[in-house]
Amino acid sequence: YNGSSKASESVFKIPPIKFTKLFINGNFVDSVSGKTFEAIDPRTGEAITRVSEGDKEDIDLAVKAARQAFDHGPWPRMSGSERGRIMMKFADLIEENVEELAALDAINGGKLFSHCKAMDIPGAARNLRYYAGAADKIHGTVLKLSEGFQGYTLREPIGVVGSIIPWNFPTIMFFMKAGPALAAGCTMVVKPAEQTPLSALYYAHLAKLAGLPDGVLNVVNGFGETAGAAISSHMDIDKVTFTGSTEVGRKIMTAAAASNLKPVSLELGGKSPLLIFEDADIDQAGEICVASSRVYVQEGIYEIFVKKLVEKANAWVIGDPFDLRVNQGPQTDEKQFQKILSYIEHGKREGATLLTGGKRLGSKGFYIEPTIFTDVKEDMTIAKEEIFGPVMSLMKFKTMEEAIKRANNTTYGLAAGVITKNLNVANTVSRSIRAGIIWLNCYTAFDVDCPYGGYKMSGFGREFGLDALNQYLQIKSIVTPIHDSPW
Ligand code: ADP
Repeated sequence: YNGSSKASESVFKIPPIKFTKLFINGNFVDSVSGKTFEAIDPRTGEAITRVSEGDKEDIDLAVKAARQAFDHGPWPRMSGSERGRIMMKFADLIEENVEELAALDAINGGKLFSHCKAMDIPGAARNLRYYAGAADKIHGTVLKLSEGFQGYTLREPIGVVGSIIPWNFPTIMFFMKAGPALAAGCTMVVKPAEQTPLSALYYAHLAKLAGLPDGVLNVVNGFGETAGAAISSHMDIDKVTFTGSTEVGRKIMTAAAASNLKPVSLELGGKSPLLIFEDADIDQAGEICVASSRVYVQEGIYEIFVKKLVEKANAWVIGDPFDLRVNQGPQTDEKQFQKILSYIEHGKREGATLLTGGKRLGSKGFYIEPTIFTDVKEDMTIAKEEIFGPVMSLMKFKTMEEAIKRANNTTYGLAAGVITKNLNVANTVSRSIRAGIIWLNCYTAFDVDCPYGGYKMSGFGREFGLDALNQYLQIKSIVTPIHDSPW
């Protein structure tokens, strides 16, 4: 970061906000209560606009529309190729509006405009096309059963899906669920995070333009304990897919069990380790580790690695997410901002050494300096709990066995990274770490064709890939007697 000053203000002209109501049954409508809440610009902490606030009554209306669209509408009944065609159109419309959509996630989520434009928004289109291509390849199997019977299986859409998503990737999370669910023939009620309500409404608008029938995709903004809880406990929702904290995931699963036993898939918190071995290319390791929070460095390269990292942190540019020179924008909201600062205080109090950063940047908006702690012990709060912010804990290790043991010493199991040129180390570590994805000589590399999800308390179920499609399909077996068969 440029000493203590932020990069210059934005020059990008932010388009006016077009959609702020709830999207139910193909129409933008006010909430039943008429209530609204503020969408905040984290660059300033000030309101961008007010959006309709959905509650239980609005979720009920959205579920009714989704139920009707599922039970009687064309979407689950049309051919997979026809669904795919509409999804492809939807993807084209997203690409045509990439700048405006990127601006919404940047102004509302504090995400870098350049990243949203190059990755998140095109990623949404790619996701839709991937699952559109799968929509006409959903097959069952034929079963030759015991004597006198034959059978086959059908893969049917699971029904009305409730999707509850967080603020960290408003666009990717939306399509991570909507891509496979729509391809399967499901209908949906989506509740975006209260911090980032804007882009989802734009997607609902584009879905309608693409020809998605009314009621198939409903978007109800609102808060977790009201609108979110109304989804997880709803008697007429057939499945809930959730991404967010482990704490809320537990509440959702409990509510799902206590209501209609709807299946859930949960993609929860993580505290993903990155292991850097002595043979690693230090500059490459430095590039990769930027995205990581729990970094283990082998002792032979520890000192030089720390030195390089501090140089890197000092050159890091923090500022307006619309400024193309900026590496890091503001945190998404005041709550996250305060939470991160409080984790930093915990780190200091529990005896970790603050190497660099550790403070708020400026006096306006939710900016935090890139923060690096050393001398971190595994029982410290900063080493155990997920921190959604620019806070890194550095730890030193001696042997591979020790690194594996410490990497696994967490209640989470979302991801891990390994940096080494030694193939044996790479293989052993990859197979020994209990996590849903292992990045070898890279970190946070995602692809719609690569399954993603947790071990342990990071949740269950997989997003992306064809595995995700199966989360939105039921298998029905049909069995019939067969008489006088020659075989
Ligand atoms: P984070 O800590 O990353 O904000 P949360 O797990 O709190 O993540 O929130 C993720 C999503 O879950 C948001 O859309 C939020 O509104 C929703 N949510 C929060 N509490 C509940 C709840 N009790 N029931 C259902 N959804 C909830």
